[in-house]
Amino acid sequence: MRPVVAIIGRPNVGKSTLFNRLARRRIAIVDDTPGVTRDRKEAEAVLGGRDVTLVDTAGLEEAPPETVAGRMTAGSARAVDLADLVLFVLDGREGLTPADRHFAAWLRRSGKPVILVVNKAEGRAGEAGYYDAFALGFGEPVAVSAEHGEGLGELHARVRAALPEPAAGEDETGEAGSVRPLRLAVVGRPNAGKSTLVNRLIGEERLLTGPEPGITRDAIALPWRDAEGRLVRLVDTAGLRRRARVTDKLEKLSTAATIVALREAEVVVLVLDALAPLEAQDIAIAALAEREGRALVLALNKWDLVPVKERDAVRRAVAERLATGLAQLKGVSVVPLSALSGAGVEALMPAVWAAYAAWNSRVPTGALNRWFAAAIERHPPPLVDGRRLKLRYITQVKARPPSFVVFGTRTGRLPEDYVRYLTNGLREALGLAGVPIRLTLRSSRNPYVEGD
Ligand code: GDP
Repeated sequence: MRPVVAIIGRPNVGKSTLFNRLARRRIAIVDDTPGVTRDRKEAEAVLGGRDVTLVDTAGLEEAPPETVAGRMTAGSARAVDLADLVLFVLDGREGLTPADRHFAAWLRRSGKPVILVVNKAEGRAGEAGYYDAFALGFGEPVAVSAEHGEGLGELHARVRAALPEPAAGEDETGEAGSVRPLRLAVVGRPNAGKSTLVNRLIGEERLLTGPEPGITRDAIALPWRDAEGRLVRLVDTAGLRRRARVTDKLEKLSTAATIVALREAEVVVLVLDALAPLEAQDIAIAALAEREGRALVLALNKWDLVPVKERDAVRRAVAERLATGLAQLKGVSVVPLSALSGAGVEALMPAVWAAYAAWNSRVPTGALNRWFAAAIERHPPPLVDGRRLKLRYITQVKARPPSFVVFGTRTGRLPEDYVRYLTNGLREALGLAGVPIRLTLRSSRNPYVEGD
């Protein structure tokens, strides 16, 4: 059985536009209840790589708004009853209306899984509505523009995550297998040992196929399996780096290669030369990785050249440089290894997967707010103009990298060091070492909107 996905929402939020965007082929509705066909459109669609039946309830738009609640019980209720998943569409430009809240309360009672879709969000226009939508209690909304086709990738991903796994033997329409490979880049200064490390990681025999095109023109991807058999696509920009060697603009082009690699990758391994670790250029590359929101692991290469009695001192020096130069990546993994001999290399991929997991992590809202309440109690926000700033609650708006929004009043006046206090606390409490964390502040008049 194909899962049924119903599109629900009050009139004019853009249900039909979304339906038409997502639908592949209309199918006739077989329904023996008179009048129902007018209220529902169905289509075959592929959402998040899964074949689904998409149901639109846009016929409801004919109803005058004040009777929406009544009409809903006919058309929408049937659609929701049949649905395995509900896409609840809001108008990001208009923000929440009483009708939205009514739908929300009713959907909550239905107990069906719901994805909040904030439509008309092109060019940030729907931003206010997007943040308002959190208050409905269905978790993180997806911002889309059905008309302009924006945000649909994220919607597909969310649908995929929300639908029950297909039964064994059922085919997926998407790419073969459901395991997505990890996209990894190896970056660093010239001569740090990047090529040696890549060759060491991808023994010829483990390279699955030849190089594949990357997302951008200047990168290729090398698919391989690590020692645990997990799929990795190594982002390689060797072509760009080679070009750097034959021109005099070496600095510039190798920076370009690094930026391309960072953009393509999910996790970045920064290769350091243990004889000269964390020089200015290394710090600059690590800061770039942070700015691009990537998870980072440091490979302390050429460890074989560091005399055993000096190793502790080198480790300490690296830790100190990290604390002063890269505070925003506190706790990042440092793996001493020798790409040349292979010693220590086996510890690299486990560190990479751990960073990847932290980078992907989603913290349940309850646990997050328990931490938040304790953090605020331990160290309350300061007084501004004689009044205390109120911070009400925190929510994770996305992962990859973990991004959070704190809601409160007059949050624009919150001092930088308090934001740092919260960010560092989050990193420690949630085990997000070495992962960039995004924390933004929103002022809202009344974040707790009653559904009923
Ligand atoms: P890239 O420019 O970062 O790709 O660096 P390469 O991989 O070409 O390595 C630069 C030089 O460092 C080469 O001569 C390598 O043999 C050497 N090298 C790389 N890794 C190690 C290592 O772990 N130990 C030692 N002793 N030499 C290394």
